Amino acid sequence: GVSLPSRWAIFKTICPNPNLLFRVDVLDKENRYSSSYILDQRKKILGKSLSISYQNPLTIVRGQGQYLIDCDGQKYIDTVNNVAHVGHEHPSVVKAGSTQMGILNTNTRYLNREIVAYAEELLKTLPPELTVIHFVNSGSEANELAMRMAKAYTKQRDMIALEMGYHGNTQGCIDISSYKFNGKGGAGKPAFTEIVPLPDSFRGIYKGENTGSNYASHVQVAIEHIHTQGRGIAGFIAESIVSCGGQIPLPSGYLKEAFQYVRNAGGVCIVDEVQVGFGRVGKHFWGFELHDVVPDIVTMGKPIGNGHPLGAIACTEAVAAAFANGMEFFNTFGGNPVSCAIGAEVLNIIQREQLQQNALHLGDYLTTNFNGMKNEFSILKDVRGEGLFLGLEFNDDNLNPLTETTSFIANKMKDHKILMSVDGPFNNVIKIKPPMCFDKDNADYLLESLRTVLKQIMNK
Ligand code: PMP
Repeated sequence: GVSLPSRWAIFKTICPNPNLLFRVDVLDKENRYSSSYILDQRKKILGKSLSISYQNPLTIVRGQGQYLIDCDGQKYIDTVNNVAHVGHEHPSVVKAGSTQMGILNTNTRYLNREIVAYAEELLKTLPPELTVIHFVNSGSEANELAMRMAKAYTKQRDMIALEMGYHGNTQGCIDISSYKFNGKGGAGKPAFTEIVPLPDSFRGIYKGENTGSNYASHVQVAIEHIHTQGRGIAGFIAESIVSCGGQIPLPSGYLKEAFQYVRNAGGVCIVDEVQVGFGRVGKHFWGFELHDVVPDIVTMGKPIGNGHPLGAIACTEAVAAAFANGMEFFNTFGGNPVSCAIGAEVLNIIQREQLQQNALHLGDYLTTNFNGMKNEFSILKDVRGEGLFLGLEFNDDNLNPLTETTSFIANKMKDHKILMSVDGPFNNVIKIKPPMCFDKDNADYLLESLRTVLKQIMNK
């Protein structure tokens, strides 16, 4: 409360370090686990393909609600973390997990109420056609299992996925994630994957209003391509707002038509709700509900356990029956009582704290204000998304992506104590997907800070 962390060195020359008395580990700059030591050790003893945010990385020591706190006690508004859905370290989630951990944590081969109670609650949020739940430990596992189900149901193996889609880190998921296999280090498209164009009505191959049918027609083309090779389609997978593609909302009618083509060809329709599910889109609990469709399989991850490793797959009776072909599905941790107690509490909190409504109101509020800023700051060319899942695209007047400027904005926003992430094919989209307890004051501060940063960039 008396000085900035950046003045640490100056004060150290004139005043003894009070932490010699208090001995709070994380405040001790000279302790073994200083930020520079952690960074060096990460480079030395952890996998080299781990990435780290920001030119000057943050050492985060605590989370609380919509805030992350660094080792200097600086508090940041977190607009990146859609995993801490109901808020970082929400006390009720912590309590539910620790209480159950003190009672029982075992696998699904014994009868126990937690898994059934939780599956019942989860099913209540879904359309009546989806009646069966399988539990796993991550979004990747959920999509991996969804593909196994689609393959078991159809006895085919070809998958259709969206350009710039990302569905997880397993081999099977990478094989359908063009974001990865066409990105740095990727080995290109595998033979059993068809990629259809990203249905981006702002920058994609069809622009403007009513592009749904045009984009969906490529799904039919992909199916025909599979057929000409003498094979059939197992499944089609899409997010209802394409996150890694740069927060791309699917055009109206797209999913409905795509599903029709896929089902006519005997395939299974999978919607990946790992990023957008659980009320984040505001108008609905699930993103696919924006499109008036019912998938055969819905996959869930990230927010489902508020940071606890949990994933789930909801599917129809028919898909579940085809998957139950005699081979046991055993998952050591999936569906354990601790995970289920946590998942159930997350659902409770979403309801109790009216977080879906909050996403709707604040999403509208932010979108209106961002749209207003488009006139003032010409580099802000598109504002899109639903609820608290928004994207801001920065381009020059010829629609050339302003990649460096976008990264500069994210780094400047960090100086304003707001954490934001950048994504999209050209890394020119700022994504906004905060914990759902993000409030009106946070929104106002974000708008004010962004305005300051943009003024600075545009010399206003
Ligand atoms: N699907 C989507 C849409 C995702 O964004 C991610 C993770 N970013 C995954 C699946 C994989 O989830 P996880 O990292 O929990 O395995």
